[in-house]
Amino acid sequence: MDKQRDFVLRTIEERGVKFVRLWFTDVIGTLKSVAIAPAEVEGAFAEGIGFDGSAIEGLTRMFESDLLAQPDPSTFQILPWRGEVDPTARMFCDLTAPDGRPAVSDPRHVLRRALAKAADAGFTFYTHPEIEFYLLKSSTLGPDGPVPVDSAGYFDNVPGGTAHDFRRSAVRMLEDLGISVEFSHHEGGPGQNEIDLRYADALSTADNIMTFRTVVKEVAIEQGVYATFMPKPLNNHPGSGMHTHLSLFEGDVNAFYEAGAEYQLSLTGRRFIAGLLRHANEIAAVTNQFVNSYKRLWGGDEAPSFVTWGHANRSALVRVPMYKPNKGQSTRVEYRALDSAANPYLAYALMLAAGLKGIEEEYELPPEAEDNVWSMSDTERRALGYAPLPASLDHALEYMQDSELVAETLGEQVFNYVLLNKRKDWEAYRGQVTPFELQNNLGLL
Ligand code: GLU
Ligand code: MG
Ligand code: MG
Repeated sequence: MDKQRDFVLRTIEERGVKFVRLWFTDVIGTLKSVAIAPAEVEGAFAEGIGFDGSAIEGLTRMFESDLLAQPDPSTFQILPWRGEVDPTARMFCDLTAPDGRPAVSDPRHVLRRALAKAADAGFTFYTHPEIEFYLLKSSTLGPDGPVPVDSAGYFDNVPGGTAHDFRRSAVRMLEDLGISVEFSHHEGGPGQNEIDLRYADALSTADNIMTFRTVVKEVAIEQGVYATFMPKPLNNHPGSGMHTHLSLFEGDVNAFYEAGAEYQLSLTGRRFIAGLLRHANEIAAVTNQFVNSYKRLWGGDEAPSFVTWGHANRSALVRVPMYKPNKGQSTRVEYRALDSAANPYLAYALMLAAGLKGIEEEYELPPEAEDNVWSMSDTERRALGYAPLPASLDHALEYMQDSELVAETLGEQVFNYVLLNKRKDWEAYRGQVTPFELQNNLGLL
């Protein structure tokens, strides 16, 4: 720790860093930032930087509003988009109360607590996100809604296209920030792109996702376009998912791997999937936290709508990706409900807790879905026990409010805040008269 602090202080001096931004995340998943002068950094390491938490979504109750941001020196990076002159750096922070205890409302703390529980059971949790987003000409709507930058599709190479340059700049910037990118390509929708980050421990991944969103927004501004992580911005095109590949390691050994087992998947892996399936609906208001999230889940185009698992099956909620023979250590499961607008700290804490519950309680994995679940009838699905995911945010909140697993994992304050805040969203939405109703009803009724 002290070595890392020394490294930060030395680098600030050597590189002539002029501003240090302290980053943290509110309960909804919005990145917050406060800039301090280099001379303040040593004090920030020693005592933290105080701020009024009540001004920030979900962070405190009014009567205990003082919080401290404690910079995590292992996350120190110089921000490439600020240029070489007067460099600016950033560190993620852990939030504490004035008495030094972790702030119960800090999403980073919620994830740390879930990871500590996994560590008690001997596991390290790794995640690898595939992040989808849309590039639009601007945030202004055209006559048909958002206007994408191109009309290309899956894996298309668009000569001279915005998306190509965009991905190159974004990937370079991410690498400059120490975030490894595995894969990037044009996705299925017009203007839709995907960038996949290399797997890392879940806390680093969640930090990396927050950085990623900022980088993508910054590069978009630089290139005169607008980037959105909204789950379903266009009516007749795919939504933006954040499929995440999950694995548990015991030391150097992948706990999901068993040579010779079906799909090389160990009993631990099977129970973990069973946990994800059993608790999927309870965690949905966090993995899919907006009214709009449910337009993606029920809009087709490879987003999951039913609680199933499968191997090569893209209609499944949980998929065991094709394994490469002799590459047992890469055995993992892909959770496909999560969308690109989720708070990654809270979502990963809940996905982990659901999987661990499956291991602890020795849940049995139901048979895999081999068919395309979307093309079955309701009766067929019911006969096979394929339950639907929540149909709306309202429905998801009903599941969440009765969930012990979610209450315990988020802690009372975050749990209550999410329920309250999301109910408000739902109620505001429910009162709206939509273009759909006007188009379909006004002329006829
Ligand atoms: N965009 C799809 C979704 O909403 C996923 C497409 C894919 O399989 O990558 O989940
Ligand atoms: Mg994709
Ligand atoms: Mg995927």
